[in-house]
Amino acid sequence: MTKTRKVSLIIPCYNEEATLIKLYDELNKSTDNLAGYVFEYIFIDDGSRDRTFEILKQISRDGKVNYIKLSRNFGKESAMFAGLEAAKGEAVIIMDADLQHPPELIADLLGKYEQGFDQVVAKRTRDGEHKGRKLITQLYYKVINRFIDVELNDGFGDFRLLSRKAVNALLALQETNRFSKGLFSWIGFETATIEFTNRVREAGQSKFSFRGLLNYAIDGLLSFNSKPLRLLIYTALGILSVSLMYILYILFGVLISGIEVPGYFTLISAILLLSSVQLLSIGVLGEYIGRIYIEIKRRPNYLVDETNIDKDKTND
Ligand code: UDP
Ligand code: MG
Repeated sequence: MTKTRKVSLIIPCYNEEATLIKLYDELNKSTDNLAGYVFEYIFIDDGSRDRTFEILKQISRDGKVNYIKLSRNFGKESAMFAGLEAAKGEAVIIMDADLQHPPELIADLLGKYEQGFDQVVAKRTRDGEHKGRKLITQLYYKVINRFIDVELNDGFGDFRLLSRKAVNALLALQETNRFSKGLFSWIGFETATIEFTNRVREAGQSKFSFRGLLNYAIDGLLSFNSKPLRLLIYTALGILSVSLMYILYILFGVLISGIEVPGYFTLISAILLLSSVQLLSIGVLGEYIGRIYIEIKRRPNYLVDETNIDKDKTND
């Protein structure tokens, strides 16, 4: 008999009652005929308020489905982290519960994994997406890649396969404020990509509002570097030199033609300009201090309410 190898599927779910059964069926269809592997499904119920957990319990009777119910909604990042910590497979595949990540691709992901890649990304094309959102996203990636130290790619989502090596690397990063897109890129390793066309959500609603996305964008910008702080210094230097030149110019004028009536316009514009720069700078500083504050508390990323995973059971 050939040795079977364990692959873990991690699926964060937040109010996904509408798609779970269908997802479960499709997963089974896509994994049943993959010889040589055993799959463990790990569903993380991220504090859903609908019937998600009931459905999970029901499908877990097959012995293949593991569930972890978090004590409240901790967000997708934390749910994924919970899944990574629980996964026992030699490779791990992360996917969404809404069937936007087609289970047929599992075979392709594993194919690349067999070629020796430690990360295999399923890259999404943006066909059929709302035009405005498409434009904003593209702009965002342009801007952010200028600023941060790791490279982020448009269309690289969380749908990917990670080898045990890559998973362990991610688990070793103990930060509370997790920005996975950046972390995946930060850990490095040989990465392959496969492409798939964007699908619309089967049922239920997207959990990310515009505001949520904006916050996510700012998180990305701040999590990976301290360049905004550096930018503040440059701005300050720029303003300082302009002001100095202006002061010299005025002083010169006073020396030559005596004291003028001070201009209201100059005064107001100086105040407005300087105070807005100051406010912005304080905001950026505050943002970093807030992050330090959260990190030093060393709170766990999530709390488990109920699970059918036996913690002590070792890799088998
Ligand atoms: N999700 C989660 N916790 C949250 C928000 C979302 O676990 O707080 C899960 C959700 O159930 C889904 C995945 O993350 O499986 C992606 O969410 P969604 O489809 O709403 O995002 P979108 O595809 O619109 O970016
Ligand atoms: Mg989705």
